[in-house]
Amino acid sequence: MADCECLPGCPFFNDKMANMPAMASTYKSKYCQGDFANCARYMVFKALGKPSVPMDLYPNQKDTASRIIKGG
Ligand code: SF4
Repeated sequence: MADCECLPGCPFFNDKMANMPAMASTYKSKYCQGDFANCARYMVFKALGKPSVPMDLYPNQKDTASRIIKGG
């Protein structure tokens, strides 16, 4: 499993988000160190660039990511 390219500076991976979910460590293994292509933060980063990734977007919020990418 590959690590996400955003991992060193990612606020989620580095526990810098205001409310870290109880599932944080599970998400880190699932997304950050594996299936990062399906991480909501990564999806927005890839589509629109780092400045467009909301501070409070969690990896499992794919629906929100899709909405942001579509411009909603
Ligand atoms: S997978 Fe998502 S949450 Fe994890 S380091 Fe990459 S962008 Fe951040």
